[in-house]
Amino acid sequence: MSRNTYSFKVDEEKAIQIINFYDYCSIANNNENIRFKAATPDFRLTVYNNLTVLIQGNNAVNEYAIWQTTENFIEHAGSDEVGVGDYFGPIVVAAAIVKKEDFAFLDELGVKDSKKLTDEKILEIAPAIKKRLKMKISVISNNKYNQVYTGKHYNLNKIKAYLHNFTLAKLIEDTNFTGPIIIDQFCERELYYRYLKDYKAPIVVENVSFYIKAESQFLAVAAASIVARYEFLQRLKEIEKELNIKIIKGAGTEVDIMAFKLVKKYGEDVLKKYSKYNFANTKKVRELLKK
Ligand code: MG
Repeated sequence: MSRNTYSFKVDEEKAIQIINFYDYCSIANNNENIRFKAATPDFRLTVYNNLTVLIQGNNAVNEYAIWQTTENFIEHAGSDEVGVGDYFGPIVVAAAIVKKEDFAFLDELGVKDSKKLTDEKILEIAPAIKKRLKMKISVISNNKYNQVYTGKHYNLNKIKAYLHNFTLAKLIEDTNFTGPIIIDQFCERELYYRYLKDYKAPIVVENVSFYIKAESQFLAVAAASIVARYEFLQRLKEIEKELNIKIIKGAGTEVDIMAFKLVKKYGEDVLKKYSKYNFANTKKVRELLKK
């Protein structure tokens, strides 16, 4: 699977897109057949005048994966997390593998624009994605989150790192996948691996690539993002049933008021069970209670 050289044809528009994208690592070029050259320690990229793009090097596959289309699609794995900005509800991480034969299926569902999909649409299409792709999902309940978070030296990025690695490790163990793996970037790569070391994670998935807004470039990340959101919404529904209230998403002022009402009804322990207790919302609820 792991090749070191990839070449593909592009049109003028794509060529400009690629040249702009790699501007940060462009290098001098004296060859008149070559329009643009870029290099990092991990890969070298060349755009020829005839609109052929060549990518070489140890990490070539990851760069190639960015520019994949139906014609030059590459199987890849990706993961994303949901719930980190919501006071109520768990954190969910999903990881998925997308193969060439899944491309048309996912394209038709509109997976590529995952960030634009409404919750209604996600509820509609996620079950089909879950059924089709090789996936793993990890959920950290609020109870568990609050236990972990009160421990020393924990922060949200550490919890995310642990969950991404754990979920990807399970996926890879199950499938023996050896292709490129992409995480939607939430911290620097170096920091991610340091967190895993701190945690003494029993299995560390190596050679993971990080991209900002990866869900718009990698179908596996987009699919993971949709399914993670779906799971998150399912958990919220359960919480709504248990508390007999409509949960407001996010962490804004309306959430404080809702949380205040819940504490009045059930006592403060309700927050330990259903919210991310370390959020500033808890403090605001206490202030409301004093009034
Ligand atoms: Mg993300």
